[in-house]
Amino acid sequence: MDDCVFCKIIKKEIPAEILQETEDFVIFKDIKPSAPVHYLAVLKKHIPSIKEIEHEDEALIGHLIHEAKSAAEKLGLSGYKLVFNVGRDGGQIIDHIHLHILGGWN
Ligand code: AMP
Ligand code: ZN
Repeated sequence: MDDCVFCKIIKKEIPAEILQETEDFVIFKDIKPSAPVHYLAVLKKHIPSIKEIEHEDEALIGHLIHEAKSAAEKLGLSGYKLVFNVGRDGGQIIDHIHLHILGGWN
């Protein structure tokens, strides 16, 4: 956890372009965008990946999706993709749950 990049962003130890923040989430711009608009919705709770979520985390993950929807509206995206990469074989590099918000093609 101490060397987790996203925990450091949450603790403001490294900078990020933050779009919105609540008690449980932070949404910031991806540093290496894979789409014209690319943000990451990140849980403040350090859970490594979707593989590790427990029953008690279900509401939090639901809220994360809702938070991503509100960010997409704020960004004026008419359509978008929400993506969880899960595990190395699923393309996940940072072991702290995050939801990619991708859009801006039109
Ligand atoms: P994933 O492959 O799902 O683990 O995605 C990790 C994402 O985090 C990638 O799209 C990276 O470009 C992004 N990323 C890595 N470091 C930073 C950072 N310091 N600030 C913003 N985004 C980052
Ligand atoms: Zn973390």
